[in-house]
Amino acid sequence: MTPLASQQPRSPWVNAFQWLFFPVSLFGGATVMGIALAHGVPAAPLAMAIPLFFLIAIAIVERRLPYEPDWNRARGDITADLASLVTVAFGVETLFKVAGPVAVVGILSLLKLPADFNVFPRNAPFWVQCAIVIGFIDFVKYWFHRMGHETRFWWPLHSVHHAVKRVHMLNGFRIHPLYHTLTYVLGYFPCILLGAPAETLFVHTVILGIVGGFQHCNIDLRYGVLNYIFSTNEIHRWHHSTRVAEGNKNYGAIFSFFDVIFGTYYNVPGKAPAVIGMVHEDGYPLHSYWEQLAIPFTYRRRVKNADVDHVVEADALDVRIENRT
Ligand SMILES: [Zn+2]
Ligand SMILES: [Zn+2]
Repeated sequence: MTPLASQQPRSPWVNAFQWLFFPVSLFGGATVMGIALAHGVPAAPLAMAIPLFFLIAIAIVERRLPYEPDWNRARGDITADLASLVTVAFGVETLFKVAGPVAVVGILSLLKLPADFNVFPRNAPFWVQCAIVIGFIDFVKYWFHRMGHETRFWWPLHSVHHAVKRVHMLNGFRIHPLYHTLTYVLGYFPCILLGAPAETLFVHTVILGIVGGFQHCNIDLRYGVLNYIFSTNEIHRWHHSTRVAEGNKNYGAIFSFFDVIFGTYYNVPGKAPAVIGMVHEDGYPLHSYWEQLAIPFTYRRRVKNADVDHVVEADALDVRIENRT
């Protein structure tokens, strides 16, 4: 562990900003979405526009108030990050948001089943419906993410997200499209099948877009007790540590309370992980997005020590890395 990178005293205004930027953005984005939906504005473009606004704001603030100034320095990773952003945000997202519900309805009709199972509480207040959808999807994502770290079978697919040597906003989009697709199948499709209104899924997109932008951002922010509710950048940084004891923690996408409940919450206030990356990097195509697309199928052939179970070997590795830093 290393001390917090930026502990110099700030002006009261900057200090207030450090505490308020995240909660005001999240509350503001959710409120705008709610008001716009109530006035009949189409949900799909809103779900793109609102997160985009905050992602641009976050990218600007990253340059002005970095948590770790060195993480603002590109190191051959921008092309892979942008390629992944385009593939995931515009390719997979659009495909599933548009074609997903149509495919589900088509399959159900082929099987002569009703268009949905109509068990979703559509008469409940809209915010309750959104809370159910957002909570369910995040629960599924928590366990899928955890499997990606704690089972050898799923790790190569998830490893793409950890093939970065710094933590900044763009890293949040470094996800293998197959991984993203599976989270849709496991998390979103059950909601559609059970009859959740499409608007609730778009609200989920807005919340995930805003929290996800903050989760990886390289901004020196303060959260306090919000760390126990949301997956903030303060705790997600640990998740990108090369130390397994730190990296196999904080799996939540939007919320961190599943980590609290299931015993994987980790934070040492005032400290930061010493090294960002993966346990086994020898042979891993860190900067080639195209080779990373193939890595779920080539991992064991390409990566040195790939057969060493990084979970089982955690203790020994942690001692070695600790001595190195
Ligand atoms: Zn992970
Ligand atoms: Zn991450």
